[in-house]
Amino acid sequence: MEIKACRLCPRECGANRSKGLGACGGGSFVKVAKAALHQWEEPCISGSNGSGTVFFSGCPLRCCFCQNYQLSAQNFGKEITTQRLADIFLELQDQGAHNINLVNPTHYVPWIIEALGIVKHRLHLPVVYNSGGYERCETLRMLDGLVDIYLPDLKFAESDRSKRYAGAPDYFDVATSAILEMYRQVGKIAFDQDGLLKKGLIIRHLVLPKGRFDSVAVLTWIAQNLPKEKILLSLMSQFTPFYRCAEFPEINRRISTFEYNHVLSKAQELGLKGYMQEKSSAKEEYTPLFDLSGV
Ligand code: SF4
Repeated sequence: MEIKACRLCPRECGANRSKGLGACGGGSFVKVAKAALHQWEEPCISGSNGSGTVFFSGCPLRCCFCQNYQLSAQNFGKEITTQRLADIFLELQDQGAHNINLVNPTHYVPWIIEALGIVKHRLHLPVVYNSGGYERCETLRMLDGLVDIYLPDLKFAESDRSKRYAGAPDYFDVATSAILEMYRQVGKIAFDQDGLLKKGLIIRHLVLPKGRFDSVAVLTWIAQNLPKEKILLSLMSQFTPFYRCAEFPEINRRISTFEYNHVLSKAQELGLKGYMQEKSSAKEEYTPLFDLSGV
């Protein structure tokens, strides 16, 4: 696919992706690191069989704590055609996946739309758009009617923190606008008879060390700007000091029980519903490995 001046993500770097890579690592072919059934998402996404997860390589964000940095920053993966991507969707469906879960898809949206078009009469699963929340509304609007479930992060509220830890000082303004657009598209959460999510919005928030006040600001925004009974929150405690965390000593540790409980009680006080990860799940083996399987 030819994109001569890419503005798909908020970086708007203008790369000619037919000739080279953009700031996200994206070129002219879609690049994928793994496609497999995945059990570690929220229970209404993973279910009993697993979520049909496709991990895309590269990323518009630069989080210093990324648990998938081999993909996001080091661009590990394999270039494939949109026909192959469409075939992967069907293979995951045949394996019993409950949904097609597009992980970190932002910089490949036009390729994904083309692949979904190829399989539109054969793919019967909900499509999950699983992203860091750093999205342009213009790009999200291209997905209106194609995505059933949005699963964005809302990582930071303070600009200083998003600049320092993800290279994105505009993160909060951009991500909150994107989340409102996501909700506009999919509306109220809906489950099937087995308790699996059919459509809706789940906002993930990972509590960071020394980040409890920022976390409370994130949760407060959610409670004040979205209908609490129509969306889900997924509060995550699994922060592990991966990748470049040693460069930022204040976050080069796991979160404390005090920090997590502070944020958890605020979520409860605000009346937010969803999933609250057990503090004990902060283990390195929680993170998936990437081996090009299924690609
Ligand atoms: S998606 Fe990639 S190439 Fe396109 S604007 Fe963003 S960083 Fe640049």
